[in-house]
Amino acid sequence: MSAPITLTIKWNGQEFILKDLHDTQTVKDVKQSITELTGVLPMRQKLLGLKSKKGKPAEDDTALSELKLKPNMKIMMMGTREETIATANEKPKDAPKVIDDFDVDDEEVLTENREEFLKKIERRIREYKIEEISAPRPGKKLLVLDIDYTLFDHRSVAETAVELMRPYLHEFLTSAYEHYDIVIWSATGMKWIQAKMQELGVSKNTNYKITFYVDSGAMITVHTPKYGVVEVKPLGVIWGKYEQYNSNNTIMFDDIRRNFLMNPQNGLKIRPFRQAHLNRDSDRELIRLSRYLRDIAALDDLSSLNHRNWEKYSLKRHHEDGPE
Ligand code: MG
Repeated sequence: MSAPITLTIKWNGQEFILKDLHDTQTVKDVKQSITELTGVLPMRQKLLGLKSKKGKPAEDDTALSELKLKPNMKIMMMGTREETIATANEKPKDAPKVIDDFDVDDEEVLTENREEFLKKIERRIREYKIEEISAPRPGKKLLVLDIDYTLFDHRSVAETAVELMRPYLHEFLTSAYEHYDIVIWSATGMKWIQAKMQELGVSKNTNYKITFYVDSGAMITVHTPKYGVVEVKPLGVIWGKYEQYNSNNTIMFDDIRRNFLMNPQNGLKIRPFRQAHLNRDSDRELIRLSRYLRDIAALDDLSSLNHRNWEKYSLKRHHEDGPE
């Protein structure tokens, strides 16, 4: 008899360890054990990254011996308990207010330890590997997008990822792609980024292409007098790797302003998309931002704009141009 198998299931920010599985057991048995630990019914579970040795997605009746498993493998699960689905489908009477993350002042740009941070960026430029999905296109600007709360509500519960997708995501990406190469940069791991982009139908979309994904490995920690140690997304890593992209032609959307600390002039703080069930019928942020991207696409220097005023910029322009 072969050695028992241990799997770690990541779900809802927690880890659940399944021990003493045997290779004669099936995916269905694993799901049953997960139900005991999490309360999520097998039919509601989606196990990401679980593949057969032939590379096909695992079916319920696939035996563990047929799967590509690594020792102590971590598997991400998407799924929701029945009672949570019931609650989520009822609209709460008093929607809690959106709590904004702390706002970092642009003035407070880390002059003190700047050298040290630049060294960290240099190291990332040397050591962080970018795997291009599609080649950068000459003459295009660069749009860098966060995922969680920017394109996707990662905290609400739903049966499918698509329910948590920010409305008009594909329309937005299609429109942006005309003038911008698109990069996704999330503070999570590459595996999760790939899984989410696949679930949302971004990775294989025929109307636009993503140039590459960047994960937490390209971030650096900086120390600010006001907020202590925080992790940020320094665009310098991309600029150092690609001559085509620079501070003049790059814009980055993120719901957390501190991610722009190393390049505040290039960041646009998007309103977070939370409580998808409440907001998915009314959220128009991506439509409006499509328009802004289109409006500024012809400018030689995006960093001379104050992206805090992006809404006014579009209004003014469209006013001058007359109605659309
Ligand atoms: Mg975010």
